[in-house]
Amino acid sequence: MTEKRALFIIFGGSGDLAQRKLYPALYGLYYQGRLAKHFAVIGTARRPWTDDHYHDVIKQSLVGAPGSAHQKAEFADHFYYQSHDVTDAAHYVTLRDLAAKLDQQYALDGNRVFYMAMAPRFFATIAEHVKSEKLLSDKGFNRLIVEKPFGRDFASAKQLNDDISQAFTENQIYRIDHYLGKEMVQDIMPLRFANPLFEHVWSKDFIDNIQITLAEDIGVEERAGYYETAGALRDMVQNHIFQIIAMLTMEKPVKYDAPSIHAAKRAVLADIKPYTPAQVHANFVRGQYVGGDNVGLSYREEDNIASDSTVETYVAGRVDIANDRWQGVPIYLRTGKKLAEKQSRIDIVFKPTENNILPTAGDTSVGSDVLTLIIEPETGMHLTLNGKAIGVSDAVSPFTLDHALDQDELAKAPEAYQRLMLNILEGNKLTFTHWQELAASWHFIDAIRTVWDNDGADGLAFYNSGTMGPREADELLARDNRQWVWQGPAAD
Ligand code: NAD
Repeated sequence: MTEKRALFIIFGGSGDLAQRKLYPALYGLYYQGRLAKHFAVIGTARRPWTDDHYHDVIKQSLVGAPGSAHQKAEFADHFYYQSHDVTDAAHYVTLRDLAAKLDQQYALDGNRVFYMAMAPRFFATIAEHVKSEKLLSDKGFNRLIVEKPFGRDFASAKQLNDDISQAFTENQIYRIDHYLGKEMVQDIMPLRFANPLFEHVWSKDFIDNIQITLAEDIGVEERAGYYETAGALRDMVQNHIFQIIAMLTMEKPVKYDAPSIHAAKRAVLADIKPYTPAQVHANFVRGQYVGGDNVGLSYREEDNIASDSTVETYVAGRVDIANDRWQGVPIYLRTGKKLAEKQSRIDIVFKPTENNILPTAGDTSVGSDVLTLIIEPETGMHLTLNGKAIGVSDAVSPFTLDHALDQDELAKAPEAYQRLMLNILEGNKLTFTHWQELAASWHFIDAIRTVWDNDGADGLAFYNSGTMGPREADELLARDNRQWVWQGPAAD
């Protein structure tokens, strides 16, 4: 295992993301020996912390991580804190000098990772100052890491992209979508392209429909302020669900590398045409949770939420892909808060046999084969097939092959952020999103958003917390003579 060399400059070093995700991720790499002597981290934020206090914060963020206190202290010694207002040019000069000093001290070969762990409104000014105050290294690599949300519509996303592109090339920009770091999302490619069994049936000829569910059982919690400006469509559909759709439906990339995969994703996303207002009404449903006994507050009663808010906490929809492979295969998606159970899953429903000669228990139809990928909280897959019922009956009856990823292996596997950090150090952009993928998904989302913003409260469906969402989401499939494979915890 080769040791990586780099200086990390984390803007927002005192924040929640840095403490909960980034420091444990870096430590994970250190614990594995992928980071050793030749790395350093500058954390910058507004608070006037000392290095000593910063080290305590780092160690605190590692409580529960493996390794000795000594090991954690040695790791924390690589961290430097710089009190910094990102809008003030003078601070970048101090930062540049510290970066140059650490580069020498730790022999970092001029490799720099700029991590924007702050509110997006600061990204443009950071990129501008990084360039103008010459923080970019002229040897080694410069990589910029950008968190979601990447814009709130196409126009703002493009503005943001133009701004950061003043200082960084597309190749140097790593846009995070942490769903791409999840084990089962990463399993989509091997499943599709290393198994002829699936590869040859992955089209409209054999697949009836695809269902993507990202269900949460929690409400908005402490993210109310952000959520009121976003809603489920922006928060989950534009990014995570569209990335999953792209992974599921792209053509086979020419090679297993980032440029080929991005090209394949881009091509399929371009075949998802934005809806007209009438199509939005016909194909998308939005909902908002209401509370009650034992299920907590209604969305509109939560702190920092407007009492007449029309922000959606639930979205369901049908997406169609206008190309040869997928023409006529609906992709149904749904995501929401305060649902009956937390579960992220993909159900690929195959077409049933057309000419059934076998006896069946009820009517004459045989059920569809279904391939289910469970992304979380469990991790694994199920394949539901048809077999003979046990005993004297010859009737066809469904059974399921289950594959749960090995829990011990899984416990040893890195967290999504650790994998993303490693990919960043390796210059591997496979698990990051390309600007053109985002642009395509924003065009689709904007068309829906515009209609919903005009409609206001009209068409907003309320659903009870602890259920599977509004009945309109079931009707969306019933209209097509289909139903959700996953009906919720009770019926599963
Ligand atoms: P946070 O509010 O906890 O932290 C923000 C950081 O920015 C703090 O360190 C603060 O001191 C610093 N900051 C604010 N204004 C500053 C200024 N003018 N100059 C210098 N520093 C300043 O936010 P967070 O939850 O850590 O989120 C950071 C980013 O990551 C956001 O873009 C968020 O959308 C994204 N994100 C966060 C999470 C998460 O789990 N927290 C998950 C996904 C994405």
